[in-house]
Amino acid sequence: MDSSGNYRAVCERIAAAAQRAGRDVALLAVSKTQPAAAVRELAALGQRAFGENYVQEGLAKQRELSDLDLEWHAIGPLQSNKAREVAAHFDWLQSLDRIKLVAALDRLRPASAAPLQVLIQVNIDDEASKSGCTPGEIDAIAAALHTAPRLALRGLMTIPAPDPDRRRREAAFARMRRLFETLRRDHAGVDTLSMGMSEDFEVAIAQGATLVRIGSALFGPRAKNVR
Ligand SMILES: *Cc1c(COP(=O)(O)O)cnc(C)c1O
Repeated sequence: MDSSGNYRAVCERIAAAAQRAGRDVALLAVSKTQPAAAVRELAALGQRAFGENYVQEGLAKQRELSDLDLEWHAIGPLQSNKAREVAAHFDWLQSLDRIKLVAALDRLRPASAAPLQVLIQVNIDDEASKSGCTPGEIDAIAAALHTAPRLALRGLMTIPAPDPDRRRREAAFARMRRLFETLRRDHAGVDTLSMGMSEDFEVAIAQGATLVRIGSALFGPRAKNVR
């Protein structure tokens, strides 16, 4: 795997799309299923923010890489029994999708750590199988976050339905942008719209993304039977 070539190419494509959009765009390197050594290689090239879907896998890598100053984002569906570990060991949670978890995360976030930076995950295509709240639930979750001093609301995240029709994908991203603009108007500190992955990040940036989550374009394809 030519990680430095991939990294440079992805950074250049993000920079070009960001310039066309007239906005800064951050890169989250999604390291699920990749060994700690691959994260270390990317960190040596200057990448600092990494995303993990599975809490145990993420914690194991954090332990192996504790000599580095990295920022860890939990991006997978969050089960209640993993709230403690996410609150204790991650910097960001991008996949909050129910009010029920707010009080638990707030209580479990260590006082010695900075507040957990939180994105509300939205199921923008209303897929039955997907995690994420409905657009109509965003306000109530955002209001609950305001009662949680150890959690900081930063914005929204989405994974649109895989759709070969580019215009439908664009429309989903554009709906997210409108939800994000409304949230930002109503809540101080909201600055992050996380959308776009290896296959569609340029489209997402054109439609308003401020953070893209990229795995396979950086690390190469994942093993087939792994999400
Ligand atoms: C795996 C994953 C990504 C990255 O997907 P690629 O297509 O490999 O870039 C981004 N976001 C989430 C939530 C993921 O699970």
